[in-house]
Amino acid sequence: MDCKITKTKEGAAPATIRLSDRLNGLEESVTLAITAKARALKAEGKDIIGFGAGEPDFDTPENIKNAGIKAIKDGLTKYTAVGGINELKDAIIGKFKRDNNLTYSRDEVIVSCGGKHSIYNLFQSILNKGDEVIIPAPFWVSYPVMVSLAGGTPRIVHTTEAAGFKMSVDEFRANINSNTKAVIINSPSNPTGAAYTAAELEKLAEIALANNILIITDEIYEKLTYDGFKSSSIASVSDDVKRISVVLNGVSKTYSMTGWRIGYAAGPKEIIKAMTSIQSQSTSNPTSISQWAAVEAISGPQDILDPMIVEFEKRRSVMVDALNAIEGVSCRKPQGAFYVFANISKVLGRRFNEKTIKGSADLANYLIDEAGIAVVPGEPFGDDSFIRLSYATSMNNIVNGIRRIGEAIKELK
Ligand SMILES: *Cc1c(COP(=O)(O)O)cnc(C)c1O
Repeated sequence: MDCKITKTKEGAAPATIRLSDRLNGLEESVTLAITAKARALKAEGKDIIGFGAGEPDFDTPENIKNAGIKAIKDGLTKYTAVGGINELKDAIIGKFKRDNNLTYSRDEVIVSCGGKHSIYNLFQSILNKGDEVIIPAPFWVSYPVMVSLAGGTPRIVHTTEAAGFKMSVDEFRANINSNTKAVIINSPSNPTGAAYTAAELEKLAEIALANNILIITDEIYEKLTYDGFKSSSIASVSDDVKRISVVLNGVSKTYSMTGWRIGYAAGPKEIIKAMTSIQSQSTSNPTSISQWAAVEAISGPQDILDPMIVEFEKRRSVMVDALNAIEGVSCRKPQGAFYVFANISKVLGRRFNEKTIKGSADLANYLIDEAGIAVVPGEPFGDDSFIRLSYATSMNNIVNGIRRIGEAIKELK
């Protein structure tokens, strides 16, 4: 990839700077393209309803904000230890004990600038050229890119809607070879909302153990589960499984703190030490103020989450029922997170004004142009027969937005 830059020295010719080979194959995000289009149309005054949100629409709870303000007033605004302040590490250790029955020490925990940053540091710490990472699809868009950026090779395992978007033991086993370094489990999942039961996790863990594969478990949506479903951590299957697991979590989704940028990882000392070294030479510590707010989020009252979860559960039901009432569209009721992954395969091949809707991106573009509705195409998540809709938006938007999607799909012949 080349990019033209102009030298600042007067009279000098523009030079061409060759960008790094690392960028090869790094595609521009379809998701961002749709989001940009929605923003532009909104700015023109168009009535746009967005189902693209990847974050809760609730405000950060008051007690957490106040802890951040107090940190500023108390002058806690300087560099901290690279891997996080002890107070936050202790809060995280307490959370793992309380919620997952997992015991960690401070040197087995790192705090990063968001969960995404922890995952990035992890891949940078464990992958060498040729190492494969098993990623069940549909997947969070960043996993394969981060694996590739670290020099590894993503090995995508397609799961089906019929199987609840969950990787079976046989599928897992069939994709293991001598290069397999790690597997990623994201439960509850973005984009499908699917969550593994404790029994399913136990079976997957057995195979990882038998093949000496590192388990990377992204539990960022752990608290956002419905119908009484309780999320469990695969690392808590046994001490042996814990020894080959890195648990990723953070405050972004649970406490509506996406902008504060605090995530964390817990796992074997050697891996956490390597991640801390990489962090020490790149970002250094996560924001000091946010760390103090996160202490309050994680160790403060947890019942502040109840109203948010109740509201998400209500919206989920309304959205799922309304989508299933549209001819050509169907979706499962997800166990967790705040997304619905809707099957649009029956709509593909239909036409509007001579134009055929060939894939999920075509449908997303059609919906934004003709109905003023922004959805995220399933293609970048690894399945082109689906679209992702977030219910982190008002009930009013859900009711009106899905009605408009239904009307628009009716127009397709
Ligand atoms: C949002 C998200 C994350 C991390 O978000 P941060 O804001 O970086 O903490 C990690 N994994 C998944 C699947 C997510 O959706």
